[in-house]
Amino acid sequence: MFSFGRSRSGDGASSGRAKDDFAAARERLLTEIEYEMRETVGYTGRGHLSDRVHRAMGEVPRHEFVPEEDVQNAYVNRARGIGYGQTISQPYIVALMTELLDLEPSDRVLEIGTGCGYQAAVLSGLVAEVYSIEFVPELGTEAGERLRRLGYDNVEVRIGDGRLGWPEKAPFDGIIVTAVAEDVPQPLLDQLANGGRMMIPLGASYGAQDLVLVTKDENGEVSHKAVLPVAFVPLVKGASE
Ligand code: SAH
Repeated sequence: MFSFGRSRSGDGASSGRAKDDFAAARERLLTEIEYEMRETVGYTGRGHLSDRVHRAMGEVPRHEFVPEEDVQNAYVNRARGIGYGQTISQPYIVALMTELLDLEPSDRVLEIGTGCGYQAAVLSGLVAEVYSIEFVPELGTEAGERLRRLGYDNVEVRIGDGRLGWPEKAPFDGIIVTAVAEDVPQPLLDQLANGGRMMIPLGASYGAQDLVLVTKDENGEVSHKAVLPVAFVPLVKGASE
């Protein structure tokens, strides 16, 4: 069995208490997320999280996904740095994007921008299969190891340019892009199943951005709906351009 570092169940007498402390912090965070859901209902049309998404957010130990020195801030409702100029997304945004995907337990989801793997872990509890692509090799490798160590066995991480998607595993019921693009990359649109939903921030790299819900109906007709102004790191153009 592959295992190292901090284990899910803790590794010493003090970890039981630490786990309880984090459980309380997670509850507080969920209260804040639900508050923000209510505050933004005018934009998003969703005033609260579904039970499934609420539960999934409550189960993921976010402190395992932040750098060691930032563990005490792991349950603050903010994006945080994870090195390589990248971030772990704000928990409210993770919750909102997950919520708007309307995922079913049998679904297969593609994520672009694994980062530390937090969003992938949240998705893991909600669907059958998660495929996640990360551009920075060090981050992707670390996230893959972390997810395996924590027991997220239905998540597969690959290093590469997410703008190309993962054609071998397509079509996907849901696609979530966690970095901003100017337009929806065509391969991602092609790899979205009929009846599928995609969440993607669109706009300028360091300017105005909107979180956009892209839906493909049963006939393959695509529509876009801007949901909320957001701030994401750029989806880099790799070898595909
Ligand atoms: N999903 C993460 C947030 C990641 S931040 C979370 O759960 O917190 C966005 C990530 O997208 C960064 O790690 C960045 O390296 C990655 N990224 C940027 N451009 C990419 C591309 N073209 N393909 C794949 N990943 C990309």
